[in-house]
Amino acid sequence: MKSHDGSERKRKEFIVYDAIIIGGGPAGLQAALTLGRMHRKALLLDSGAYRNGTVPHAHNLLTNDGRDPAELRRLARAEIAAYETVEIQDAVAAEVARTDSALVVTVDGVPLSTTAVILATGLADDLPPIPGLGERWGDRVANCPFCHGHEFAGQRVAVLNAGDHAAMLAAMLEPVASEVLVIDPEGVRDVGDAATGLRLHLDDGTTEDVAGAFVAPTSRQRAPFADQLGLERQESGAVRVDPFGRTSVEGVYAVGDMAHPDHLPGPMASLAAAIAAGQLAAVAVVQADAQVRAASPS
Ligand SMILES: Cc1cc2nc3c(=O)[nH]c(=O)nc-3n(C[C@H](O)[C@H](O)[C@H](O)COP(=O)(O)OP(=O)(O)OC[C@H]3O[C@@H](n4cnc5c(N)ncnc54)[C@H](O)[C@@H]3O)c2cc1C
Repeated sequence: MKSHDGSERKRKEFIVYDAIIIGGGPAGLQAALTLGRMHRKALLLDSGAYRNGTVPHAHNLLTNDGRDPAELRRLARAEIAAYETVEIQDAVAAEVARTDSALVVTVDGVPLSTTAVILATGLADDLPPIPGLGERWGDRVANCPFCHGHEFAGQRVAVLNAGDHAAMLAAMLEPVASEVLVIDPEGVRDVGDAATGLRLHLDDGTTEDVAGAFVAPTSRQRAPFADQLGLERQESGAVRVDPFGRTSVEGVYAVGDMAHPDHLPGPMASLAAAIAAGQLAAVAVVQADAQVRAASPS
């Protein structure tokens, strides 16, 4: 993009960052690492609200199967610290706006200008209002059989509110669990502990003991930026992106659980997919910057 007088270099003097990354989960952290390795000036903002914030052990991530996600984030930050052009702030971004010449991210009332914004703000989950479910979310209660199915191998599990997906979820778990109970969540009064893991108290007065339960939460964008920027959405509610995370607004990228390209039916919500998306968007940011540099050598 050219400034009014055609001088990209001049415009850049007023822009503090090559990229501001909003989100310190796997997608944002990987974007920061990639930008750091290419010596781009980047700021990562992290409000500390992670989708897997209640999860003691994350699975299905090569070389880190079973690692505490908080430890993964700590290790990632330590790696990123080796790259001096990247700064990490534990802070909440309030607003993202596009001006004629830059993107502006407001943090604690301070506007920060940047050439690119990588949104990695994730999704928030609303669980069915069953007492006891929320306290066990991420441990004995989960949504993803790829992440938490094997931990219940050879045991009884329940599928609680997967709606149209219940049969598919039960079929996926069939080779893993000894038995899969599909239960209408309306009929579950509360969830407590049992020697097997969970005790489901049903409305008819009976109980079912299972090792774990799978529920399909209602997920929504955690941050308001897609709305603020008027980003194009997918039917899933996620932000519509191309394979490199580019959104419908120039210079704005969206990665991780909050976005997906047209060829996928929904966000591929996993650590590995979020890491891959974060890396691709950072590559696209570097390529865009390199194109500008190549067009106006100093
Ligand atoms: C219960 C559960 C268990 C899971 N277990 C696994 C597993 O075992 N293996 C696996 O591969 N996947 C698992 N997942 C999926 C995985 O957690 C997500 O796919 C992954 O965390 C997505 O990463 P992300 O970077 O997109 O978002 P997140 O990890 O959710 O990170 C979002 C980031 O954005 C920040 N943010 C949001 N708004 C703002 C703001 N305004 N200002 C600043 N920062 C902001 C947050 O603080 C956070 O840092 C699980 C998910 C759930 C719900």
